[in-house]
Amino acid sequence: MKNLLILGAGTAGTMMANKLHKALDARAWAITVVDKDENHYYQPGFLFVPFKIYDCERLVRPKRDFIPEGVDLVFAEVAEIEPEANTVRLSDGRSLSYDILIVATGTTPRPEETPGLDGPLWYQDAFDFYSFEGACKLRDRLDKWEGGRLTIFLAESIFKCPVAPLEFAFLADSYFEERGMRDRVEITYVTPLSGAFTKPKATAFLSGLMEEKGITVVPDFYAERVDAERKVLVSYDAREVPFDLLVAVPVNMGADFIEASDMGDIDDLNYVPTDKHTLQARDHDDVFVIGDATNLPASKAGSVAHFEADVLTENILSYIKGAPLDATFDGHANCFIETGGGKATLIDFNYATEPLPGKFPLPVFGPMSLLKETRANHFGKLFFEWVYWHMMLTGKPMPVTTHMSMVGKKKDAVPA
Ligand SMILES: Cc1cc2nc3c(=O)[nH]c(=O)nc-3n(C[C@H](O)[C@H](O)[C@H](O)COP(=O)(O)OP(=O)(O)OC[C@H]3O[C@@H](n4cnc5c(N)ncnc54)[C@H](O)[C@@H]3O)c2cc1C
Repeated sequence: MKNLLILGAGTAGTMMANKLHKALDARAWAITVVDKDENHYYQPGFLFVPFKIYDCERLVRPKRDFIPEGVDLVFAEVAEIEPEANTVRLSDGRSLSYDILIVATGTTPRPEETPGLDGPLWYQDAFDFYSFEGACKLRDRLDKWEGGRLTIFLAESIFKCPVAPLEFAFLADSYFEERGMRDRVEITYVTPLSGAFTKPKATAFLSGLMEEKGITVVPDFYAERVDAERKVLVSYDAREVPFDLLVAVPVNMGADFIEASDMGDIDDLNYVPTDKHTLQARDHDDVFVIGDATNLPASKAGSVAHFEADVLTENILSYIKGAPLDATFDGHANCFIETGGGKATLIDFNYATEPLPGKFPLPVFGPMSLLKETRANHFGKLFFEWVYWHMMLTGKPMPVTTHMSMVGKKKDAVPA
C-alpha cells in the first residue's frame, strides 16, 4: 500500500482529497489529510460580515463533513517536511510517511509583520477582515462608529483575493450611504501598487468606480509602520496618511513550517517554489503544491485553487504511471467583485490574457458581464457560497472551463 499525504484541509486540500479518492485505486493508495483546525471557514464570506450582510455563524462548518469516507483525516499541526526521508513531522511528535505529498496549507494574515499594527489599536481602532475573528469584531466596531477617516490599507502587494479590499471599499461606501452618514466618512485606499489593481483594463475600470464613489486612492505607498499614538500610517519614503479607523490587509504569509523544511529557495513570504504549469514542487518530484501555498504568479483565490485541482489530479495520475506531466495550469482566475448597491462586476483572466470586457460564460447571453456592474453578477457572487459548499469542495463538475476561454470576451472593447 502506498501513501498519498495532503497537508491542509482548506479549499484546495479538501478538493484534492475528494478528487483523488474518486480517481485512485483504494487497494493501492491510502490517502491521509492533515489539518490543525477542525473548522472549515468560507473565507469569501468574511467580506460581508462587517456590513451585516452575513452573520459569523453561517461561515463555519466542520471539516470532517467534506472529507470522504475512506480518507484518513488527522487533526494536528505540521512542524516540518523532511523530503529526503519522505516524511512529515507533526508538532505532537508523530511522523507520517508519504510516497506522494501535496502541500495545500494556504496563507494567513500576519499583522505582527507591520510595526505598530497589532499594538494598542488592534481590534480597537485597527482591524482586519481577513480572519474570522477580525471580520466579526469589525462588524461590532462599524456598528457603533460615528464617522471620520476610514483608511483601508494593503501592507503587501501579494495577498489572497486581491480584489477583496476593493470590494470592502465599495461596500463601505454603500453601507454608510444606507445609514445616512456617508457625508461624515472619508474613505481612503492606501496601496503599494501603482493603481487600484494590477492589470491595465481592470485598473482603469476600478479606478473609475473609486472616483465615482468618492474614494481617494493613495498609490505606491509601502508602509513602514503604524504610529498608534498619532493614528497615522507612515511609509518608507516618510509620507503619512492619518486615520480614525484603520482596516488593514496585513502581510499574508505561507505556513511557518515551510521555512523550516527543505523546500528549496523559499521567498520571504514562505511560498513554495512551484512549477507554474505542472504544479510540481521545483526541488522534489514527489511533492506537489496547490492553492495559496504556491509561489505562482497567479491570483491567490479559491477559483484558482479549483482550476489547479483539475490539472493536479491529472498530473498526479500521470506521475503514478511514470508518464510525462502533460496537464498544464494556465493561471486561470475568475473573481466576482462586489461594487455596492446590490451590484458586482466580474473578471476572468490567466497568465497571458488580462481581464477583458464581454459576457461570461456564454457569448451574448452571459448571464454574467465582464468588467461591467450588474445585478446578475451580484447574484452570481452570492450563489457562489452554495456552489462552494455543495459542488466545489466535494469535487463535483462545475460549468466553467479549467483553462480560460476567449468565448464572449471582446479584445478591443473599452470597459463599461
Ligand atoms: C476576505 C476574503 C475574501 C475572499 N474572497 C474570495 C472570492 O470571492 N473568491 C475566491 O475565489 N477566493 C476568495 N478568497 C480566497 C480563498 O478563500 C483562498 O484563496 C482559498 O481558500 C485558498 O485555498 P487553500 O486551500 O490554498 O488555503 P486555505 O483554504 O486557507 O486552507 C489552508 C489550510 O491549511 C491549514 N494549515 C495551515 N498551516 C498548517 C499547519 N502548520 N498544520 C496543519 N494545517 C495547517 C489551515 O488550517 C487551513 O485549513 C477570499 C479570501 C478572503 C480572506
